[in-house]
Amino acid sequence: MFELPGKALAIQAQVEQFFTQQVLPMNAQWHEQVRAGHVQPPIEAALREQAKALGLWNMALPRLADHEPGLRLTNLEFTGVAEVLGRLEWASKVFNCHAPDVPNMELLQLFATPAQKAQWLNPLLAGDIGSAFAMTEPDVASSDPVNLQTRIEKDGEFYVVNGRKWFASNAGHAACELIIALGVSDPSAPKSQRQSLVLIPRHAPGVDIVRNLPVFDHTSITNTHTELTFTNVRIPADHVLGELGAGFAMGQARLGPARLHHCMRAIGECEVLISLMVKRSQERTTFGKRIDEYGATQAAISLSRIELDQCRLLVQQAAHRLDTVGNKAARKQISMIKVAVARMYQDVADRAVQLYGAKGVTGDTPAARAFSRARAFRIYDGPDEVHLQTIARLEASDQDLTNLAHYLAQG
Ligand SMILES: Cc1cc2nc3c(=O)[nH]c(=O)nc-3n(C[C@H](O)[C@H](O)[C@H](O)COP(=O)(O)OP(=O)(O)OC[C@H]3O[C@@H](n4cnc5c(N)ncnc54)[C@H](O)[C@@H]3O)c2cc1C
Repeated sequence: MFELPGKALAIQAQVEQFFTQQVLPMNAQWHEQVRAGHVQPPIEAALREQAKALGLWNMALPRLADHEPGLRLTNLEFTGVAEVLGRLEWASKVFNCHAPDVPNMELLQLFATPAQKAQWLNPLLAGDIGSAFAMTEPDVASSDPVNLQTRIEKDGEFYVVNGRKWFASNAGHAACELIIALGVSDPSAPKSQRQSLVLIPRHAPGVDIVRNLPVFDHTSITNTHTELTFTNVRIPADHVLGELGAGFAMGQARLGPARLHHCMRAIGECEVLISLMVKRSQERTTFGKRIDEYGATQAAISLSRIELDQCRLLVQQAAHRLDTVGNKAARKQISMIKVAVARMYQDVADRAVQLYGAKGVTGDTPAARAFSRARAFRIYDGPDEVHLQTIARLEASDQDLTNLAHYLAQG
């Protein structure tokens, strides 16, 4: 286990207390308000104000400037806090630590001009607006960004954007004001320099929301996954983020922390699922035995504990590498946790569904939603297979194969 400094442990204890005493007891009320149609539940807004006043704000952004509000936790220090937030699907937002705003803020911190920061980063840090990241397109296999078709074309002092995107999480939410979009700005350039990132105001003429996509038949109004079109969207030339043609590399820089934070939160959610499995199996009997007395139940719980603790250590290792050597040098560890945690998450959620029996597939426990979120996590931020391909490639380049001849000698 990685040792955390006292400052991080003290913040974690404060978050734990606020979560347990203020946030968790409001869960039923939050769901009631969502069922009543509130896309920004008033209870969540009130808790956000409280968390901000306590300074428990922007905890997932290690690179905050001196004037920017929030706690300057390293990625490793954030791991414990993120686990607490992961216990409830809406808790991260209370502390302004939610996706996709956090990775979008990281991107703006790294590459935005002072004017772009004033327009977009500052209100995001204050929690006044929301944002989306639009890369994936329905018409092409988007796990390979070379396939993307959205066009960004120069027209005098403007760029004109045309394309169709989907699964741009949060783009359809009422709070969303900024869409960071990836598109082709120079189709004749070498593959890695064809694309650029542009900052598109959500309400710019030509930005049209097509639909809010369901995930396994569940359509969320608070966490929307949006299909949208850009039709002749005209943006001033200063709405390009970073260097023209550097969109692919910048998108990669965004994904390291994004994947890490999803993994941390999943671990917190799986802790809840293990607790629920233990409780449920102690409460029910079949064929004269409590369900926790069956070997199959014990294996389900034990394997979940083993796999979860393995994943926590891997995630801490990846966070430590991200803090110490940076996003590019940590990419093997990031891909490793993306595969390992998503699979563990899916397996733990699957076991929880099974142990709850019919109740497990309803919305009366967190198990069904966890299962659907975990299954989706094996696809978003890069499908398993693409990460396995990356790990294998980096493993081959990390290896020193020059001195193995003696092991292969037969006598
Ligand atoms: C809940 C959710 C939220 C999302 N949020 C966002 C968001 O905010 N912004 C955004 O831009 N996108 C988002 N996405 C989209 C997501 O990032 C893409 O779905 C993902 O990158 C895969 O692209 P694709 O769907 O086009 O699949 P494809 O590229 O068509 O791939 C389909 C399948 O092909 C196989 N495959 C692909 N490449 C390989 C390979 N190298 N080796 C072996 N098999 C391979 C895999 O099985 C893969 O799952 C989200 C998706 C989901 C489900």
